[in-house]
Formats: sequence, C-alpha cells, structure tokens
Amino acid sequence: MLNLVEISAKELGMLKLMADFFAEKPELTAKIESYTTAYYALVTTYSENFGIPTEEAWKVCEDLQKKINCAEYLQVNAPAPLNKALPLPREELCMLHVLIDYFSENPKMSPAGSFLSRRPENLAETYHWFYGSNGNGNGEVSREILQNLIEKLQTTTSIKMETLTPIIATPNPYEAALKQLDIAAEKLKLDPSIHEILKHPVRAFIVYVPVIMDNGSTRVFTGYRVQYNDALGPTKGGLRYHPDLTLDEVTALAAWMTWKTAVTGLPLGGGKGGIRCNPKEMSKSELERLTRGYARAIAKYIGPFTDVPAPDVYTTAEMMGWIMDEYSEIIGYPVFGVVTGKPVNVGGSLGRNEATSRGLMYTVIEAAKHLGVKLKGATVAVQGYGNVGYHAARLLHEIGCKIIAVSDSKGGAYDPNGLDPIKVQEHKDRTGSVVDYPASRFISNEQVLELECDILVPAALENQITEANAANIKAKIVAEGANGPVRPEADTILYEKGVFDIPDILANSGGVIVSYFEQVQNQMNFYWTEEEVRNKLENTITKAFKDTLAMSQQHSVDMRSAAYMLAVKRVADAMLARKGKTITHLEYPAVSS
Ligand code: NAD
Repeated sequence: MLNLVEISAKELGMLKLMADFFAEKPELTAKIESYTTAYYALVTTYSENFGIPTEEAWKVCEDLQKKINCAEYLQVNAPAPLNKALPLPREELCMLHVLIDYFSENPKMSPAGSFLSRRPENLAETYHWFYGSNGNGNGEVSREILQNLIEKLQTTTSIKMETLTPIIATPNPYEAALKQLDIAAEKLKLDPSIHEILKHPVRAFIVYVPVIMDNGSTRVFTGYRVQYNDALGPTKGGLRYHPDLTLDEVTALAAWMTWKTAVTGLPLGGGKGGIRCNPKEMSKSELERLTRGYARAIAKYIGPFTDVPAPDVYTTAEMMGWIMDEYSEIIGYPVFGVVTGKPVNVGGSLGRNEATSRGLMYTVIEAAKHLGVKLKGATVAVQGYGNVGYHAARLLHEIGCKIIAVSDSKGGAYDPNGLDPIKVQEHKDRTGSVVDYPASRFISNEQVLELECDILVPAALENQITEANAANIKAKIVAEGANGPVRPEADTILYEKGVFDIPDILANSGGVIVSYFEQVQNQMNFYWTEEEVRNKLENTITKAFKDTLAMSQQHSVDMRSAAYMLAVKRVADAMLARKGKTITHLEYPAVSS
C-alpha cells in the first residue's frame, strides 16, 4: 500500500539549498566551499541562512533524507501562473536520489564527500554511471535531467510524495525521558523547583573532531558529552558511536543513567556521550584517530572525579584503553579511572563481562523469593543471544532453571526439555545463529516472547513488548536485560495481568555497578578477585531490588514507577542537601522510601 507523505516547509528549504548549490550561485558556493564535507557544509549553511540551531538542522536534513530515500512517486506543486501539481518523471526522481546521497554523511553512489569534485557535471556523471544502464541516455541527457530538476526544486511551493513503506516518525527520546520524570515527580509530589531543574542536564558539550581519513582527506565529526546530574557524585555513562546520534538522544540516555545510578544506590550521577559517525565504514586506524581526537576535545571536562565514560553501542574495551592513554598523556601520569570497561591488563575489573547478566540473575532470585516461584526447574525464555542474553541464560541455568527457548536476529531455538546454553553458544559461534540448534524446534522472536514460561528475559532491542502483545505474555517474571524492551502502554497491561516486571534501570544495572567497582579499584590501585566483585555486586543490586520493592508496595505502583520514584527522590534529596534553599523557596515535602 502506498503512503502519502508531505515534505515540510523546513525540509523544502533544505532541498532548495541543495538545488542552489548545484545551480552555481556564486555567493552560496563561495560560502560553503570552505567546509570539508558536503553534508556538514549544507547543514551549517542552512542553519545560518534560516537562523535555525544546528541541532535542528541535522534533524531536518536526516528526516528529508529518510523521506526521499524511500520515495516511489513524487509530485511538486508549481507556483503561479502554472499553479498545478506536476509529477516528477522517474529519471528526475532518480536524480533527486543522487542529489540527496551527495549531501549525506556517507555518500554511496559516488565518492562525492569531498568538495574537490563539486560541479554539476559530477552529479550528472554519477547519475549516468548509476542509472545510465537503465536506458536513461548519455551524459548530456543526464545533465539536462539535473537542470530540469534544479529548476523545479527552486520554484516549487510544496512537495508531496508516496512511499511503499510508512515513514514512522521516531519519538524524541528526550521527550520520553521527561515524561517518565514527570510521572515520578507527580507521584512523589516533588518540589516544582527541583522538578524544573531535573528537566535539564547540568552541562552539555558539543565538540567537532577533525580526523585525517585513510585517503588523505579531512573529515570533521560531531561529538557530544552530556552530564545530566551530578548531585550524587561524578557523572558516569557510556560513549556511543552512531551515524544517527543526536544531542537529544544523548541527553535522554544521560538522564536514564542518572536514574540508573541513583536507583542502585551508587555515589554517581548520570552522563552519556557519543560521536555521529558510522564505525562500520571506518578503518580501525580512522577509529583510533577519531577516538583519541574526541578524548583530547573533552579532556578538560572528564576525569575520575568529574565524569567517567564507558563503552556503549559500537564502542569497545580497546577504545576505552585509547581514551585512557590519551587522557593520561595530557595529565602527565597514568589515570586509569578516567574511563571504565577497559581491558583487564590496563585497569579493567574482573567480572565486568558478565556483570549485567549476573546482576539480572540476582534480581530474578529476589523476584522469585517475593512471588514464591521455585527457581529449580523454572522455565526461562531469552530473546537476544548476545552478551547479555547468553550470560543470563548460562547463569540462570547454573542455578537450576530450565532454558526452554533462546533467539537472535535470525530467529529462535525451542526445546521444552531444556537447552544447554553453553552448547547453544558453541553452535552459534559455528553457524552464526542459535537457529537449528540440534534437537530444537524453530521459533520466531515474537513467539519467544509469548511462550508459556516462568521467566522471560528480553535482552535484544527496545520496544519488544507493546500494547499489541502485552496481553499475550504468559511469564510470571519479566527481567529487562535490554534497555527499553517494554513500551510504556504495555506497562499497565502487564501490571494488571499480574506479570512482575523488573525494569531495565534495575534489572540490567549490574554493568554500571561493576563499572563503578572498576573506578574504585583504579582509585585504590588495588584489585579485587572475581569472587569479591561478585559478592559486592550481589549485595548492591539485592539492596536496590529490596528498596524498589518497598517503594512499590508503599505506593501501590509497579516496579518501574517505583524505581523512577526512588531514583528521582534520591537525586532530589541530594540536591536539597547540597544546595538547600538556594534552589527552592518551598518546604520540600518529605516522602519516606
Ligand atoms: P549484543 O549486540 O551482544 O547482542 C544483541 C543480541 O540481540 C544479538 O544476539 C542479536 O542477534 C540479537 N538481536 C538483534 N535483533 C534482534 C531481534 N529483532 N530479535 C531478537 N534478537 C535480536 O548486545 P548486548 O550487549 O547483549 O545488549 C543487548 C541489550 O542489552 C541492549 O539493549 C543493550 O543496550 C542492553 N544492555 C547491555 C549491557 C551490557 O553490559 N552489554 C548493559 C545494559 C544494557
């Protein structure tokens, strides 16, 4: 089915700027030729010309690219005297795809990222090379197509298009984070001044990191670091490399880290960082130069007593080692505690690898005690068989649970008699998937979630349990290994159904707890055995579980609401204890936890 999509006025402005660029408007080209990549030049010029903040300009550009990339049919509305809708012929639509690609962060159709090749001819040649074999004529015809397209874009007043796939507007994660804060604040009857302060990060940095690429060109990458709240201690949170990363996303993740460290009772605040880049398309030496450049750019703002990064999506222990090394060079002596998640031979902690899953297991043990579920023989289904899913299955199996189903992105393996998690992992290492594990039956990822079982561990992606399938969940306990696997609308359905859901900020907090232990060991320069790490993890997360359960029972709310309430209250109390009447003129109402 075709979906009708409208190009917004802001997006149309962006498209016109692209067209202007190839129409050789001298004042524009002179201005944007000084930048190193087409993408960066476009967004910066757009931001300046229309007085729109750069962050918003990135978003406009991204949304436009997403729309045009899946356009099947496009119609432009011509101004008076024509005043009519004109469908864009197929070849002009293809040319538009080339134009959009040229201005993307990673152009694929041509090596057009450099301004050295900026000429209308270059675009026409790329089009000819890419689409020419489909009978769209020679290079000269291509130039004519480009000319027609540019003229149309420059004069059009609005654009409508149709796509085969619906374009789903991704919800702004920062707005979602604020909504969760609002709910907790309302239930806690939080002081409005403190609530207002907690809606914002205390600091957010944007850095631009120049990197010499392997082909000799220079690219400038945008990096972020957000320190959301440091009332409870130095901020802590991962570093994410992703081409679609935005400041809002980093801010939301930093807010979630604030609640995660607070609910676990760690003396830490929350932060997060990242770089807009596509690590899959970069060589290891480019990634090293980028990581070291980012470390130099934020060196002034991080440190063992201020803000401590860690690995996250597409960042590794090795990269943390580079950051530690670069920072130490600047400071003048080895500062192992500036990042966590490092390799063990340069200050990493034993037990970090399985920490998230081990912490999850301890929360499951507590939940089972609370509900009276016997863990020996309890049936378990695990969605996602990566770091978190595999170790969770292995550890729950070790304490006597029966793992009846596991899955990965290719599907799942089901055996009601029980799977051996270590052997499943060996099968996955050999074949690339858990699917077809000997003696198992195939099961889809959706079916894994709805299986008849005692414990369900979603450990893959966000948004897996939604309004549509929450009523079909049969597990007694859901332990959220992944971040955000349960949609907010599904929370109420699960709660009313009597499913005991251990929220992500509690269930998967074992990783940050052991990261904190790594920091402590670095500061002492004295290292614990794996057993000591495990014992300390068990004590910390078990206490966090019990505190959350008590809050949930006292206020008759589900565990997620209780975890947020506990976290927000701990942060608010610390703010008040530190800053007192300078941040609020109201009496802060006491809420016992
Ligand atoms: P990973 O990349 O090691 O594993 C992810 C697994 O999910 C892979 O097996 C992959 O095949 C599978 N997967 C991908 N798409 C899927 C789909 N549609 N259906 C089913 N499975 C699918 O990642 P990880 O480190 O195990 O992280 C998993 C989740 O846990 C993420 O949400 C992450 O943010 C969260 N988390 C991880 C840690 C940690 O310490 N690793 C800590 C806290 C939270």
